[in-house]
Amino acid sequence: MTTFGLLIDGTETAASAGERFASHDPATGEVVGWFARAREADVQAAVASARAAYEDVWRDVSATERGRLLQEVARRIRGQAEDLAVAEARDCGKVLTQARSDVAVAARYFEFFGSAATALHGEQIPVGPDVVDFTTREPHGVCAQINAWNFPLNMAARSLAAALAAGNTTVLKTPELAPYNTAVLGRIVTEAGLPPGVVNIVHGFGAEAGAALSSHPDVDLVTFTGSVGTGRAVAASAAANVTPCVLELGGKSPTVVFPDADLDEVADQLARGFVEANGQSCDLPSLAVVHADVHDEFVDRLVRRVEKFTVGPGVDDPDVGALISEQQRARVEAYVAGAVEQGVRVLTGGGRPGRTDLDSGWFVEPTVLVDVTPGMTVATEEIFGPVLSVVQFATEDEAVAIANGTAYGLAAFVWTRDLGRGMRMTRRIRAGQVYLNCFTSGDSPMIPFGGVKRSGYGREKGFEALRTYTQVKNICIFTR
Ligand code: NAD
Repeated sequence: MTTFGLLIDGTETAASAGERFASHDPATGEVVGWFARAREADVQAAVASARAAYEDVWRDVSATERGRLLQEVARRIRGQAEDLAVAEARDCGKVLTQARSDVAVAARYFEFFGSAATALHGEQIPVGPDVVDFTTREPHGVCAQINAWNFPLNMAARSLAAALAAGNTTVLKTPELAPYNTAVLGRIVTEAGLPPGVVNIVHGFGAEAGAALSSHPDVDLVTFTGSVGTGRAVAASAAANVTPCVLELGGKSPTVVFPDADLDEVADQLARGFVEANGQSCDLPSLAVVHADVHDEFVDRLVRRVEKFTVGPGVDDPDVGALISEQQRARVEAYVAGAVEQGVRVLTGGGRPGRTDLDSGWFVEPTVLVDVTPGMTVATEEIFGPVLSVVQFATEDEAVAIANGTAYGLAAFVWTRDLGRGMRMTRRIRAGQVYLNCFTSGDSPMIPFGGVKRSGYGREKGFEALRTYTQVKNICIFTR
């Protein structure tokens, strides 16, 4: 059984209080690994290490060299891709096909930001003949990064690669429910030759390590991925130090289906989409908003696909794996039970798989709910399980109102062959990203990502992330 220490100043160390905790396979309950449990003193040491590495080393490393090191990290991720995918499947229940894709995307983050590092530059401002005025983009310095458990490796790569490419050093707190692959990534960056202290990784719990990190006065930027409630607490503690913050929070992303859409194509992609990460993804299409003229026909096609899905441990590569914890399963089951009490019909799923071989895991069947009306809890709240709520609409205005009728604004998906209508919808829906006739972009690290409303603020991914991880400095020179 692997035990991971805290990565501080390039060395894995035990926690100062000597404590540790285990992570478990949500499909079986087996221990996957042991992790040093950081408390405030350990977080202090990690931030001090990141500060020293920034001031003494990293701020003087050229963008070319930073980029080269990131490319080396990518090469090493690809070199052990299958081990990482299996570990991800065991640590967070991700089905193997998705875990493999997550690993490839993690490598892609380091490749993309490794290339982009040298493309970041300021601009010259034409103030007048005797003045040279220009901006530079400088790193913030020390970044605190706090992540969720649903895409552990992928998200760690997203935060680290962008922060490092922009010239920051970091302290990353792993999600306590799935810390394994971020810990492995810590070993990978060390082996790839990043100087000690540039990447520090602490494991531990939110109220301990997380709170100590987000409230640390020597942190220059906090990036947080997680729930709205925790995001509020993190932003408040960062605000006490006037530290800028990026919040990537939850979502209830609508899929609007107009009658002229290719219903088979939408049904195929939506069925796959709402069970991604076993339904535990911030931007997955968990709310279907379907035109009344095609509702019954569309739902029928969708349910036929969902009923064929297999459920099981992630390592067996089924369509749907286990939820992260017993608590998460109870939460999902409560949402479904509450909806049924309100008159919602369960067309498929709605319970546990009822197989004795799956009794020790946190499984829920993929579930489709119909007769959901706008404003119902299952139409507005993030369930975070493999549950799709289907609402009907009659007019374009109604579709917009339902799509915008949640506190969230992360992603939205619109399906229509009418480009004019599609473009109107992209403008009217309030979300950080709107997809027209697709559910994914094809190369996610390249495109900016983030939310509006309760889904948060600030952008990760893409070139936009390099702006997030830097600040503008203006330099003005009188030449007379
Ligand atoms: P969570 O808020 O419970 O925890 C997220 C992280 O915050 C964990 O590392 C946790 O240890 C830490 N934390 C908890 N309390 C803290 C505190 N007081 N101070 C500092 N840190 C603290 O969220 P979760 O259950 O791990 O993740 C699920 C949520 O994350 C969902 O709402 C999901 O939509 C969201 N999410 C968003 C994105 C995105 O990019 N927008 C991506 C993935 C997940």
